[in-house]
Amino acid sequence: MSEGRPVQVVILGAGVIGLTIAHTLLTTSPNAYNIKISFASPWAGANWSPIRSFEERTRTWERATFNKMWELIPQGLAMALPSRVFFTTNEDLSQLWYKDLVRDGGIAFKTFSVNPELYLPWLQSELLARGVEFVRRRVHSLGEAVALAGPNSVLVNATGLGARSLVGVEDTDVFPIRGQTIIVHAPGLKEFISLPLGTGTQGQATYIIPRPSPPGEVLLGGTFQPDNWDTSLDVPTAKGIFERCAALAPQLKDAETRVLRHNVGLRPARKGGPRVEAAWTDVPLKSELLPLRESDVGAEGRVLLVHAYGFGAAGYQNSWGAAQEVTDLIASKLNN
Ligand SMILES: Cc1cc2nc3c(=O)[nH]c(=O)nc-3n(C[C@H](O)[C@H](O)[C@H](O)COP(=O)(O)OP(=O)(O)OC[C@H]3O[C@@H](n4cnc5c(N)ncnc54)[C@H](O)[C@@H]3O)c2cc1C
Repeated sequence: MSEGRPVQVVILGAGVIGLTIAHTLLTTSPNAYNIKISFASPWAGANWSPIRSFEERTRTWERATFNKMWELIPQGLAMALPSRVFFTTNEDLSQLWYKDLVRDGGIAFKTFSVNPELYLPWLQSELLARGVEFVRRRVHSLGEAVALAGPNSVLVNATGLGARSLVGVEDTDVFPIRGQTIIVHAPGLKEFISLPLGTGTQGQATYIIPRPSPPGEVLLGGTFQPDNWDTSLDVPTAKGIFERCAALAPQLKDAETRVLRHNVGLRPARKGGPRVEAAWTDVPLKSELLPLRESDVGAEGRVLLVHAYGFGAAGYQNSWGAAQEVTDLIASKLNN
Protein backbone atom coordinates (compact mmCIF):
# COMPACT_ATOMS: atom_id res chain seq x y z
CA MET A 1 0.00 0.00 0.00
CA SER A 2 1.30 3.48 -0.79
CA GLU A 3 2.33 5.66 2.12
CA GLY A 4 0.88 8.79 0.52
CA ARG A 5 -2.67 9.52 -0.54
CA PRO A 6 -5.48 7.16 0.42
CA VAL A 7 -6.45 4.59 -2.21
CA GLN A 8 -9.82 5.28 -3.86
CA VAL A 9 -12.31 2.47 -3.26
CA VAL A 10 -15.74 2.18 -4.84
CA ILE A 11 -18.00 -0.48 -3.38
CA LEU A 12 -21.05 -1.47 -5.40
CA GLY A 13 -23.73 -2.64 -2.97
CA ALA A 14 -24.86 -1.54 0.49
CA GLY A 15 -25.99 -4.94 1.74
CA VAL A 16 -24.35 -6.58 4.73
CA ILE A 17 -21.37 -7.66 2.60
CA GLY A 18 -20.54 -4.26 1.06
CA LEU A 19 -21.01 -2.45 4.39
CA THR A 20 -18.93 -4.95 6.37
CA ILE A 21 -16.11 -4.82 3.82
CA ALA A 22 -16.03 -1.03 4.13
CA HIS A 23 -16.00 -1.30 7.92
CA THR A 24 -13.19 -3.84 7.96
CA LEU A 25 -11.07 -1.87 5.48
CA LEU A 26 -11.38 1.26 7.61
CA THR A 27 -10.78 -0.39 10.95
CA THR A 28 -7.83 -2.43 9.69
CA SER A 29 -6.06 0.56 8.04
CA PRO A 30 -7.78 3.79 9.18
CA ASN A 31 -6.06 6.22 6.79
CA ALA A 32 -5.37 3.99 3.82
CA TYR A 33 -8.71 4.16 1.98
CA ASN A 34 -11.16 6.72 0.71
CA ILE A 35 -14.44 4.85 0.26
CA LYS A 36 -17.56 5.54 -1.76
CA ILE A 37 -20.50 3.11 -1.68
CA SER A 38 -22.92 3.07 -4.59
CA PHE A 39 -26.14 1.13 -4.12
CA ALA A 40 -29.45 0.61 -5.86
CA SER A 41 -31.54 -0.15 -2.76
CA PRO A 42 -30.94 -1.47 0.72
CA TRP A 43 -31.14 -5.06 1.97
CA ALA A 44 -32.78 -8.33 3.71
CA GLY A 45 -33.30 -11.07 7.44
CA ALA A 46 -30.77 -12.55 9.90
CA ASN A 47 -29.34 -14.67 12.60
CA TRP A 48 -26.65 -17.27 12.77
CA SER A 49 -27.94 -20.70 12.21
CA PRO A 50 -26.04 -23.82 11.32
CA ILE A 51 -25.96 -24.36 7.60
CA ARG A 52 -24.29 -27.28 5.94
CA SER A 53 -20.98 -25.62 5.40
CA PHE A 54 -18.83 -28.13 3.61
CA GLU A 55 -15.93 -25.92 2.77
CA GLU A 56 -13.24 -24.97 5.23
CA ARG A 57 -13.14 -21.48 3.70
CA THR A 58 -16.76 -20.67 4.57
CA ARG A 59 -16.39 -22.31 7.97
CA THR A 60 -13.53 -19.91 8.66
CA TRP A 61 -15.77 -16.99 7.69
CA GLU A 62 -18.53 -18.28 9.94
CA ARG A 63 -16.23 -18.76 12.92
CA ALA A 64 -14.87 -15.20 12.62
CA THR A 65 -18.38 -13.77 12.24
CA PHE A 66 -19.80 -15.72 15.15
CA ASN A 67 -17.12 -14.38 17.46
CA LYS A 68 -17.54 -10.80 16.21
CA MET A 69 -21.33 -10.90 16.60
CA TRP A 70 -20.93 -12.26 20.10
CA GLU A 71 -18.93 -9.11 20.91
CA LEU A 72 -21.86 -6.96 19.70
CA ILE A 73 -24.33 -8.45 22.19
CA PRO A 74 -23.64 -5.91 24.99
CA GLN A 75 -24.51 -3.06 22.58
CA GLY A 76 -27.92 -4.65 21.91
CA LEU A 77 -27.07 -5.15 18.22
CA ALA A 78 -27.11 -8.91 18.52
CA MET A 79 -28.95 -11.17 20.92
CA ALA A 80 -27.83 -14.46 22.43
CA LEU A 81 -30.40 -17.15 21.83
CA PRO A 82 -30.87 -20.53 23.38
CA SER A 83 -31.51 -22.78 20.40
CA ARG A 84 -32.90 -26.10 19.41
CA VAL A 85 -32.54 -27.68 16.01
CA PHE A 86 -34.66 -30.75 15.40
CA PHE A 87 -32.77 -33.12 13.18
CA THR A 88 -34.89 -35.48 11.17
CA THR A 89 -32.16 -37.60 9.63
CA ASN A 90 -29.81 -40.13 11.16
CA GLU A 91 -26.66 -38.06 10.79
CA ASP A 92 -23.90 -38.42 13.33
CA LEU A 93 -24.55 -35.36 15.46
CA SER A 94 -21.23 -35.60 17.26
CA GLN A 95 -19.59 -34.82 13.91
CA LEU A 96 -21.38 -31.50 13.28
CA TRP A 97 -18.66 -29.05 12.28
CA TYR A 98 -19.99 -26.17 14.39
CA LYS A 99 -20.39 -28.08 17.65
CA ASP A 100 -17.27 -26.44 19.12
CA LEU A 101 -18.19 -22.99 17.83
CA VAL A 102 -21.68 -22.37 19.16
CA ARG A 103 -21.86 -21.59 22.85
CA ASP A 104 -22.82 -24.37 25.25
CA GLY A 105 -22.40 -27.03 22.54
CA GLY A 106 -24.59 -29.70 20.99
CA ILE A 107 -28.00 -29.66 19.39
CA ALA A 108 -29.41 -27.50 22.10
CA PHE A 109 -26.93 -24.63 21.99
CA LYS A 110 -26.58 -20.83 22.08
CA THR A 111 -26.42 -18.79 18.91
CA PHE A 112 -27.28 -15.14 18.15
CA SER A 113 -29.73 -13.14 16.10
CA VAL A 114 -29.58 -9.63 14.72
CA ASN A 115 -32.36 -7.47 13.38
CA PRO A 116 -31.16 -6.29 9.93
CA GLU A 117 -33.44 -3.25 10.09
CA LEU A 118 -31.35 -2.00 13.05
CA TYR A 119 -28.02 -3.69 12.39
CA LEU A 120 -27.46 -2.33 8.86
CA PRO A 121 -28.28 1.28 9.83
CA TRP A 122 -25.77 0.84 12.70
CA LEU A 123 -23.10 -0.33 10.24
CA GLN A 124 -23.97 2.57 7.95
CA SER A 125 -23.70 5.11 10.79
CA GLU A 126 -20.28 3.68 11.71
CA LEU A 127 -19.17 4.25 8.12
CA LEU A 128 -20.62 7.76 7.85
CA ALA A 129 -18.72 8.68 11.01
CA ARG A 130 -15.53 7.50 9.28
CA GLY A 131 -16.14 9.63 6.20
CA VAL A 132 -17.60 7.05 3.79
CA GLU A 133 -19.72 8.60 1.04
CA PHE A 134 -23.02 6.90 0.09
CA VAL A 135 -24.47 7.40 -3.38
CA ARG A 136 -27.87 5.98 -4.31
CA ARG A 137 -27.40 5.00 -7.94
CA ARG A 138 -27.86 1.80 -9.92
CA VAL A 139 -24.70 1.17 -11.87
CA HIS A 140 -25.33 -0.67 -15.12
CA SER A 141 -21.86 -1.82 -16.06
CA LEU A 142 -18.44 -2.36 -14.58
CA GLY A 143 -17.21 0.30 -17.01
CA GLU A 144 -19.53 2.84 -15.41
CA ALA A 145 -18.21 1.82 -11.98
CA VAL A 146 -14.61 2.19 -13.17
CA ALA A 147 -15.43 5.71 -14.32
CA LEU A 148 -16.64 6.46 -10.77
CA ALA A 149 -13.54 4.95 -9.22
CA GLY A 150 -10.77 6.29 -11.45
CA PRO A 151 -7.47 4.64 -12.39
CA ASN A 152 -5.46 2.51 -9.95
CA SER A 153 -8.44 2.33 -7.64
CA VAL A 154 -10.17 -0.59 -5.97
CA LEU A 155 -13.60 -1.60 -7.25
CA VAL A 156 -15.57 -4.01 -5.06
CA ASN A 157 -18.54 -5.79 -6.57
CA ALA A 158 -20.83 -6.69 -3.65
CA THR A 159 -24.06 -6.55 -5.64
CA GLY A 160 -25.62 -9.88 -4.60
CA LEU A 161 -28.20 -10.86 -7.20
CA GLY A 162 -27.22 -7.76 -9.16
CA ALA A 163 -24.07 -9.57 -10.33
CA ARG A 164 -26.27 -11.46 -12.75
CA SER A 165 -27.17 -8.37 -14.74
CA LEU A 166 -24.21 -6.08 -14.13
CA VAL A 167 -22.66 -5.71 -17.57
CA GLY A 168 -19.08 -6.91 -17.46
CA VAL A 169 -19.88 -9.49 -14.75
CA GLU A 170 -23.01 -11.18 -16.18
CA ASP A 171 -22.71 -14.14 -13.85
CA THR A 172 -25.40 -16.63 -14.87
CA ASP A 173 -24.50 -18.88 -11.91
CA VAL A 174 -26.22 -16.34 -9.66
CA PHE A 175 -29.78 -17.29 -8.69
CA PRO A 176 -32.38 -16.33 -6.05
CA ILE A 177 -33.66 -18.50 -3.22
CA ARG A 178 -37.02 -17.06 -2.24
CA GLY A 179 -37.66 -16.63 1.48
CA GLN A 180 -41.09 -15.74 2.79
CA THR A 181 -41.40 -14.88 6.49
CA ILE A 182 -43.85 -13.47 9.04
CA ILE A 183 -42.90 -10.99 11.76
CA VAL A 184 -45.03 -11.43 14.87
CA HIS A 185 -45.21 -9.93 18.33
CA ALA A 186 -44.88 -12.95 20.63
CA PRO A 187 -43.02 -11.90 23.80
CA GLY A 188 -43.20 -15.39 25.32
CA LEU A 189 -40.84 -16.83 22.70
CA LYS A 190 -37.20 -16.56 23.72
CA GLU A 191 -35.64 -19.45 21.85
CA PHE A 192 -34.42 -20.11 18.32
CA ILE A 193 -36.19 -23.26 17.16
CA SER A 194 -35.67 -24.79 13.76
CA LEU A 195 -35.74 -27.75 11.49
CA PRO A 196 -32.43 -27.94 9.59
CA LEU A 197 -32.47 -25.60 6.56
CA GLY A 198 -32.77 -27.34 3.22
CA THR A 199 -34.56 -30.41 4.60
CA GLY A 200 -38.17 -29.29 4.05
CA THR A 201 -40.26 -30.51 1.13
CA GLN A 202 -41.63 -28.25 -1.62
CA GLY A 203 -39.42 -25.34 -0.65
CA GLN A 204 -40.62 -25.25 2.95
CA ALA A 205 -38.32 -24.22 5.77
CA THR A 206 -39.39 -24.00 9.39
CA TYR A 207 -37.74 -21.74 11.93
CA ILE A 208 -38.53 -19.30 14.73
CA ILE A 209 -36.08 -16.47 15.45
CA PRO A 210 -36.66 -14.02 18.33
CA ARG A 211 -34.99 -10.70 17.49
CA PRO A 212 -32.92 -8.48 19.79
CA SER A 213 -35.33 -5.56 19.33
CA PRO A 214 -37.99 -4.23 19.32
CA PRO A 215 -39.00 -6.27 22.39
CA GLY A 216 -41.16 -9.29 21.67
CA GLU A 217 -40.52 -9.30 17.90
CA VAL A 218 -40.12 -12.77 16.44
CA LEU A 219 -39.51 -13.91 12.87
CA LEU A 220 -41.35 -17.00 11.66
CA GLY A 221 -40.03 -18.75 8.60
CA GLY A 222 -40.25 -19.65 5.99
CA THR A 223 -39.50 -20.86 2.56
CA PHE A 224 -36.38 -21.93 0.68
CA GLN A 225 -37.35 -21.77 -2.99
CA PRO A 226 -34.44 -21.79 -5.47
CA ASP A 227 -34.93 -19.94 -8.79
CA ASN A 228 -38.13 -18.29 -7.61
CA TRP A 229 -38.02 -14.52 -8.29
CA ASP A 230 -41.53 -13.77 -6.97
CA THR A 231 -41.36 -11.13 -4.24
CA SER A 232 -45.11 -10.91 -3.74
CA LEU A 233 -46.86 -12.34 -0.68
CA ASP A 234 -48.36 -15.80 -1.04
CA VAL A 235 -51.20 -16.13 1.48
CA PRO A 236 -51.48 -19.98 1.59
CA THR A 237 -47.71 -20.08 2.16
CA ALA A 238 -48.04 -17.63 5.06
CA LYS A 239 -50.74 -19.81 6.64
CA GLY A 240 -48.52 -22.87 6.24
CA ILE A 241 -45.55 -21.10 7.88
CA PHE A 242 -47.67 -20.11 10.85
CA GLU A 243 -49.07 -23.62 11.32
CA ARG A 244 -45.64 -25.31 11.05
CA CYS A 245 -44.10 -22.87 13.54
CA ALA A 246 -47.03 -23.29 15.93
CA ALA A 247 -46.45 -27.05 15.81
CA LEU A 248 -42.90 -26.38 17.14
CA ALA A 249 -43.98 -23.65 19.58
CA PRO A 250 -47.66 -24.06 20.50
CA GLN A 251 -47.64 -20.84 22.56
CA LEU A 252 -47.75 -18.98 19.21
CA LYS A 253 -51.48 -19.64 19.24
CA ASP A 254 -51.87 -17.72 22.51
CA ALA A 255 -54.03 -14.61 22.45
CA GLU A 256 -51.05 -12.26 22.92
CA THR A 257 -49.55 -13.16 19.50
CA ARG A 258 -50.06 -10.46 16.86
CA VAL A 259 -48.97 -10.59 13.23
CA LEU A 260 -47.02 -7.40 12.50
CA ARG A 261 -46.07 -7.89 8.84
CA HIS A 262 -45.11 -10.31 6.10
CA ASN A 263 -41.82 -10.23 4.20
CA VAL A 264 -40.56 -11.83 1.04
CA GLY A 265 -36.83 -11.69 0.30
CA LEU A 266 -34.51 -13.28 -2.23
CA ARG A 267 -31.31 -14.88 -0.95
CA PRO A 268 -28.54 -14.05 -3.44
CA ALA A 269 -27.11 -17.51 -4.12
CA ARG A 270 -24.56 -18.79 -6.61
CA LYS A 271 -23.92 -22.22 -8.07
CA GLY A 272 -20.54 -23.31 -6.75
CA GLY A 273 -20.76 -21.00 -3.73
CA PRO A 274 -19.75 -17.41 -3.03
CA ARG A 275 -17.30 -15.65 -5.32
CA VAL A 276 -14.59 -13.88 -3.34
CA GLU A 277 -11.53 -12.95 -5.38
CA ALA A 278 -9.42 -9.98 -6.47
CA ALA A 279 -7.38 -9.31 -9.62
CA TRP A 280 -5.77 -6.32 -11.31
CA THR A 281 -7.79 -5.68 -14.46
CA ASP A 282 -6.95 -3.53 -17.47
CA VAL A 283 -9.31 -0.67 -18.24
CA PRO A 284 -11.16 0.42 -20.24
CA LEU A 285 -13.06 -2.82 -19.77
CA LYS A 286 -14.44 -4.56 -22.80
CA SER A 287 -17.96 -5.89 -23.05
CA GLU A 288 -19.16 -8.31 -25.69
CA LEU A 289 -22.74 -7.66 -24.69
CA LEU A 290 -23.09 -3.98 -25.52
CA PRO A 291 -20.92 -1.31 -27.05
CA LEU A 292 -19.60 0.87 -24.24
CA ARG A 293 -20.86 4.41 -23.97
CA GLU A 294 -18.24 7.10 -23.69
CA SER A 295 -19.19 7.69 -20.03
CA ASP A 296 -18.59 4.01 -19.34
CA VAL A 297 -15.10 3.86 -20.66
CA GLY A 298 -13.42 5.16 -17.52
CA ALA A 299 -9.76 5.79 -17.14
CA GLU A 300 -6.93 4.12 -19.00
CA GLY A 301 -4.77 1.89 -16.86
CA ARG A 302 -5.94 -0.75 -14.45
CA VAL A 303 -8.17 -1.24 -11.42
CA LEU A 304 -8.12 -3.81 -8.68
CA LEU A 305 -11.40 -5.60 -9.31
CA VAL A 306 -12.75 -7.46 -6.28
CA HIS A 307 -15.78 -9.75 -6.30
CA ALA A 308 -17.71 -10.57 -3.10
CA TYR A 309 -21.16 -11.95 -3.85
CA GLY A 310 -23.21 -15.13 -3.93
CA PHE A 311 -23.56 -15.67 -0.17
CA GLY A 312 -27.07 -17.12 -0.49
CA ALA A 313 -28.61 -18.03 2.87
CA ALA A 314 -25.55 -17.05 4.91
CA GLY A 315 -24.56 -13.47 4.08
CA TYR A 316 -24.87 -12.27 7.66
CA GLN A 317 -23.12 -15.21 9.24
CA ASN A 318 -20.28 -15.04 6.69
CA SER A 319 -20.00 -11.26 6.72
CA TRP A 320 -17.14 -10.46 9.14
CA GLY A 321 -15.00 -13.39 8.08
CA ALA A 322 -15.49 -12.80 4.36
CA ALA A 323 -14.85 -9.05 4.81
CA GLN A 324 -11.56 -9.84 6.55
CA GLU A 325 -10.52 -12.06 3.65
CA VAL A 326 -11.41 -9.31 1.16
CA THR A 327 -9.46 -6.76 3.22
CA ASP A 328 -6.40 -9.03 3.29
CA LEU A 329 -6.68 -9.72 -0.46
CA ILE A 330 -6.84 -6.00 -1.22
CA ALA A 331 -3.85 -5.18 0.98
CA SER A 332 -1.74 -7.91 -0.55
CA LYS A 333 -2.65 -7.00 -4.17
CA LEU A 334 -1.96 -3.30 -3.54
CA ASN A 335 1.47 -4.22 -2.30
CA ASN A 336 2.22 -6.19 -5.49
C1 LIG B 1 -35.94 -14.80 4.50
C2 LIG B 1 -34.46 -14.70 4.60
C3 LIG B 1 -33.83 -15.14 5.74
C4 LIG B 1 -32.43 -15.07 5.84
N1 LIG B 1 -31.84 -15.50 6.99
C5 LIG B 1 -30.50 -15.40 7.13
C6 LIG B 1 -29.86 -15.83 8.30
O1 LIG B 1 -30.49 -16.28 9.25
N2 LIG B 1 -28.51 -15.72 8.39
C7 LIG B 1 -27.77 -15.23 7.35
O2 LIG B 1 -26.56 -15.15 7.46
N3 LIG B 1 -28.36 -14.81 6.21
C8 LIG B 1 -29.70 -14.91 6.06
N4 LIG B 1 -30.30 -14.53 4.90
C9 LIG B 1 -29.45 -14.22 3.74
C10 LIG B 1 -28.93 -12.81 3.79
O3 LIG B 1 -30.00 -11.92 3.89
C11 LIG B 1 -28.11 -12.58 2.52
O4 LIG B 1 -27.12 -13.57 2.37
C12 LIG B 1 -27.44 -11.21 2.57
O5 LIG B 1 -28.40 -10.19 2.72
C13 LIG B 1 -26.60 -10.99 1.31
O6 LIG B 1 -25.96 -9.77 1.44
P1 LIG B 1 -25.23 -9.06 0.22
O7 LIG B 1 -24.65 -7.82 0.76
O8 LIG B 1 -24.35 -10.05 -0.47
O9 LIG B 1 -26.39 -8.79 -0.82
P2 LIG B 1 -27.64 -7.78 -0.75
O10 LIG B 1 -28.13 -7.57 0.63
O11 LIG B 1 -28.61 -8.29 -1.75
O12 LIG B 1 -27.05 -6.41 -1.22
C14 LIG B 1 -26.70 -6.16 -2.54
C15 LIG B 1 -26.56 -4.68 -2.70
O13 LIG B 1 -26.12 -4.41 -4.02
C16 LIG B 1 -26.88 -3.37 -4.57
N5 LIG B 1 -26.83 -3.51 -6.02
C17 LIG B 1 -27.17 -4.59 -6.77
N6 LIG B 1 -26.96 -4.32 -8.06
C18 LIG B 1 -26.48 -3.05 -8.12
C19 LIG B 1 -26.08 -2.20 -9.17
N7 LIG B 1 -26.12 -2.61 -10.44
N8 LIG B 1 -25.65 -0.94 -8.87
C20 LIG B 1 -25.59 -0.52 -7.59
N9 LIG B 1 -25.96 -1.29 -6.55
C21 LIG B 1 -26.39 -2.53 -6.82
C22 LIG B 1 -28.25 -3.56 -3.95
O14 LIG B 1 -28.98 -2.35 -4.05
C23 LIG B 1 -27.84 -3.89 -2.52
O15 LIG B 1 -27.56 -2.71 -1.80
C24 LIG B 1 -31.68 -14.56 4.77
C25 LIG B 1 -32.32 -14.09 3.63
C26 LIG B 1 -33.70 -14.15 3.54
C27 LIG B 1 -34.37 -13.62 2.31
